[in-house]
Amino acid sequence: MSLYSIKMRGSKEDNHISGAESIVEEKDLQRAVNMLIKRAMNHSKGKSDFINVKIEALKEEIEYIEPLEVTKVEVDNPKEGFNVVKHVLKNLGIAEDKADKIIDFFKLNNNMRGAMLLDINTLKRLESDKKRGVRVTYMDFQGSKLNHLSKDTAYNAHFIEALALATKVASCPNIIGEICFSDDPNYTAGYISSKKYGYIRISQMKKLGESQGGRIFLYDSSLDESCTVKDCINYLQNKKVIIKDRVKIKSNKNYKDFIK
Ligand code: AMP
Repeated sequence: MSLYSIKMRGSKEDNHISGAESIVEEKDLQRAVNMLIKRAMNHSKGKSDFINVKIEALKEEIEYIEPLEVTKVEVDNPKEGFNVVKHVLKNLGIAEDKADKIIDFFKLNNNMRGAMLLDINTLKRLESDKKRGVRVTYMDFQGSKLNHLSKDTAYNAHFIEALALATKVASCPNIIGEICFSDDPNYTAGYISSKKYGYIRISQMKKLGESQGGRIFLYDSSLDESCTVKDCINYLQNKKVIIKDRVKIKSNKNYKDFIK
């Protein structure tokens, strides 16, 4: 069975509007391209006047991995949302003052095309292009997220795509966690994900209408010294990864239950 990667990037007057990708079988190519074009044309940030669609047959070996388990945490406001982030960072073994610095850093550097790669020991950024950051590509759910999107509307595109991305990122040696909130003004949810605690979806990380968003990957070189920063970035940008087609919701929690 041959698989194809489709990548879409839409912009308006040279400003980025939407970017998304799929990995699909040949028989699903047209349906997937249609869905991606629809995304570029109907985005809350505007209607793209330039759409780039790239399709390539995947010839290399593909890695199949299990999705991170999902915990949903309902919070009342963004402040509680960031307290959840801090709580998880501390559980991951990061000292409180460092967790605060990581969160401040994360809030300051937003609206990039990619993610920051932050060394949690030195608090220095590791990617060479600081304006763009690292862009993770070549990941999708098995049978493509098309299935999730058409089967069950509770799985919106943001959530499914972020879960695929976070699962790939968490499978990279030396990355202990990821924090993200969307730059879509209509989408207030975000997450902190890790191999250890799975994907923790937080209902509010910003107020409705705000267009700031960002992503940060937390890197700990002491975990696996045989894997270099270059290997890590290469894995995130180039390795073809398919997430096994099973979204597992582990639990739904409210803020107080989660934080105690
Ligand atoms: P989104 O959830 O698509 O709204 O993206 C939120 C933030 O994550 C963006 O502002 C980017 O900084 C970053 N980002 C988006 N897509 C990627 C990607 N494929 N790889 C790494 N970072 C990304």
